[in-house]
Amino acid sequence: MKKLQLFINNEFSDSQSGKSFPDINPVTGEQIAEVTEATAADVDAAVRAAEQALHGPWGTMPVTERLALLRKVADGIEARFDEFLAAEIADTGKPRSLACSVDIPRGAANFRIFADLARSFATDCFETDTDDGEGALNYALRVPIGVVGVICPWNLPLLLMTWKVAPALAAGNTVVVKPSEETPATATLLAEVMREVGIPAGVYNVVHGFGPDSAGEALVQHPGVRAITFTGETRTGSAIMRNAAAQVKHLSFELGGKNPAIIFADADFDKAVAGTVRSVFSNCGQVCLCSERVYVERPLFERFVEALKLAAEKLKPGDPYDPDTTIGPLISQAHRDKVLSYYQLARAEGAQVITGGGVPEMEAPFANGSFVQPTIWTGLPESARCVKEEIFGPVCHIQPFDTEEEAIAMANATEYGLCAAVWTQNLSRGHRVAKKLETGIVWVNTWFLRDLRTPFGGVKMSGIGREGGIHSIQFYSEMRNICVKL
Ligand code: NAD
Repeated sequence: MKKLQLFINNEFSDSQSGKSFPDINPVTGEQIAEVTEATAADVDAAVRAAEQALHGPWGTMPVTERLALLRKVADGIEARFDEFLAAEIADTGKPRSLACSVDIPRGAANFRIFADLARSFATDCFETDTDDGEGALNYALRVPIGVVGVICPWNLPLLLMTWKVAPALAAGNTVVVKPSEETPATATLLAEVMREVGIPAGVYNVVHGFGPDSAGEALVQHPGVRAITFTGETRTGSAIMRNAAAQVKHLSFELGGKNPAIIFADADFDKAVAGTVRSVFSNCGQVCLCSERVYVERPLFERFVEALKLAAEKLKPGDPYDPDTTIGPLISQAHRDKVLSYYQLARAEGAQVITGGGVPEMEAPFANGSFVQPTIWTGLPESARCVKEEIFGPVCHIQPFDTEEEAIAMANATEYGLCAAVWTQNLSRGHRVAKKLETGIVWVNTWFLRDLRTPFGGVKMSGIGREGGIHSIQFYSEMRNICVKL
């Protein structure tokens, strides 16, 4: 059985406690690796290694050299592209086409993008008058925060981890990464690449394990960790915030969502349908940006529901390596149980099930995979739990609306605020609606079109802070003002 170990100070090791847990392939339900679970003592060793690197080779390395090394990490991921691909597919079960076009290329690109960006930001400089007439010069330096704890989810494991690790390292910090217990493989593979390309010992460390009473909590509580960057559930974010409060750590949170898509009657119908199919079912609905609430202007409602139903029924689950497979499984049996409990609840809440609502029949070797049917509901009141709570599966509720104001009010009636999609050919309306939506991101006539320089993040309970471009560098660095009396 393959073993995924901790990576501390450039060495792979088992835990001092000898604890481990299984890594399960969600397509077959089979164990694919045994993963070392870090204890608080292991986390402590990782943080100490990161502190040493920060004050040693990484902290003293000329910036151009540091950024050149990060570009080599990108090259290193690309050189081992097929290994990363296989590891990500085995952990998540997502179709090869998706991992091949999104997860792994973005994992590499993140290092190049932040290596390029890190040197291009200006800082403040002021000439200050003084009584003696000589003046003073105030200028700011951008300095690293210190050791950063990186806590990751399982839905886009390499992509979301490198989206944090790359800017943190580009800004001069060192990191201790806690990958999701569901998807430990690519973080471990990245450790090999880091070592191969010459990233100094202690700069990138990996501690596997769970959240509460395990590696995640130990990392958050460690006094040597100055910042926590976290992507995951809102509830987990609250727990991390509580545990980080004692040491007043910097926090960057990308949390859950219950994202609306609004389709106006003047939308390009085919594009709106295709875009909504993507926004509801991509990665089996396991993207924080997925639309779970779809609002359609009444004249279009029935035609739209029918078109989405047809598209959903064409999605084909199965072998991730089969080019005909268009939808993977959920990440685990536990997550499947949760999604299926919402499928049941929707019926109890009075939903009309347009399609899906159960488990597809799968043949061996996929019979034990965590597959569920893509599902569409209509007819639920806006107060229903299935319309209010994040499900994180291939499912949406479609609701008709009559006026722009009504659509905006329903879209905003949620505690979340990550993103929204608006479909209309009237761009004035698109802009007007976008300004009124209480989300961090609005896409008009598209979905998940990313320019990595733009601010990414949520409002309300969907997050704190922004990632992307300068916004990432701002989080992973502090401004030090220097005042020189002339
Ligand atoms: P999760 O919150 O269950 O776990 C995320 C990570 O936190 C895991 O590594 C887990 O081990 C760790 N963790 C759990 N409890 C912890 C604790 N008390 N202290 C420290 N670490 C702890 O989330 P998930 O199920 O892995 O991911 C799905 C969730 O992530 C969804 O809610 C989704 O919306 C959200 N998400 C948000 C974004 C975004 O950009 N806003 C992106 C992807 C996923």
